[in-house]
Amino acid sequence: MNWNGKTVNPTIKTDSNGSHALALLGTSLRTVPKDITIEIQTVIQGAMHEFKKTIHIIPYKYQEEKLSIAPKMITPPETEIKRIKAEREKALKAIRTVSLERKWEIPFNLPVTGRKLSRFGLYRTFNGKIKRRHKGLDFRAWLGTPIKAIAAGKVVLVGNFYYAGNCVYIDHGNGIVSSSIHMSKVLAEEGDIVKQGQRIGLSGATGRATGAHLHLSVYVQGVSVDPEPLFTFPLKNYH
Ligand SMILES: [Zn+2]
Repeated sequence: MNWNGKTVNPTIKTDSNGSHALALLGTSLRTVPKDITIEIQTVIQGAMHEFKKTIHIIPYKYQEEKLSIAPKMITPPETEIKRIKAEREKALKAIRTVSLERKWEIPFNLPVTGRKLSRFGLYRTFNGKIKRRHKGLDFRAWLGTPIKAIAAGKVVLVGNFYYAGNCVYIDHGNGIVSSSIHMSKVLAEEGDIVKQGQRIGLSGATGRATGAHLHLSVYVQGVSVDPEPLFTFPLKNYH
């Protein structure tokens, strides 16, 4: 399957109803409104078939948010630059993980029960200086709240990073990866196989955080997407 310059190979599952595959396809925050065609190649009874479907990418107006944080999170000390760069590379490698077997199901499991705070895609200004897009979804989670895996998968990265604080990255298969950051405590290790809903850590305010909460990011083929629809998507839409 080709989508927006990427090749996606969904897991094909066969049961008494036939063979079916489920794929999540994302667009980045930088995508301009346009038509993108999905090309699907499949072998049916020994013959190659190709299907196409055009998706209209529509504009969306994201809100703005102003935040105040410790100055060292705006301009990190010189001694931390190397560390930050190494952490970014580790995170990028984890985010770009593509494993063959799909371990996720729709809908995903909410990681905490707290209400949603900052939504995905916000234009953020820190201390009136730096501007960043908010590439994740923030949930209210008082200090020490258990954080649960949104889907089954394998823990591919655990760290204590300058900006992310204590963090856990999980590969859910077929190019879907999630990260949970700012934890007070991590309850998982790299290489762990986790079930959907399993505790992976406790919420906190480590790294660049203004207070205890959970920041959840979901990546689709290495692109950060809005996690919110994945918890509410009605399953019937897939059939
Ligand atoms: Zn956040």
